[in-house]
Amino acid sequence: MEFDDQEQGRRHRIELLNYEIGDWRCRCGARQGHKQRYDLECKVCKIQMGNGVIDGYEKKCTLCGGPLTYVTCAECNTRVTLAILWRIENGDFHPRDLAVPLKATLRRFVDGSLRDSTRLWIQHAS
Ligand SMILES: [Zn+2]
Ligand SMILES: [Zn+2]
Repeated sequence: MEFDDQEQGRRHRIELLNYEIGDWRCRCGARQGHKQRYDLECKVCKIQMGNGVIDGYEKKCTLCGGPLTYVTCAECNTRVTLAILWRIENGDFHPRDLAVPLKATLRRFVDGSLRDSTRLWIQHAS
């Protein structure tokens, strides 16, 4: 999105850098982000190895040939999950929390140079 600032003669540009639907984390919060939900590691060597969906066609460990599994947090031993599920499990939750936020990162350029970047949380509760 671009617009001109008539008064100062500047060119402003707003760029949507990325977005993520939902708040994704392990139980303790050390691992976060939807992409991290699909981090893979070898079940045998425990070495992290790529990112993808386990569907029966996934690759094997390049070191030992062992099966890959989803990475779990070293602290709390859980996989990255929609954060609301941890809250439901704790009983710390209100029906309005069933809404899932949209997180977006916007960057603002003025005359072609990066001015600032903002992380927005848009949560619609109905
Ligand atoms: Zn954790
Ligand atoms: Zn291995």
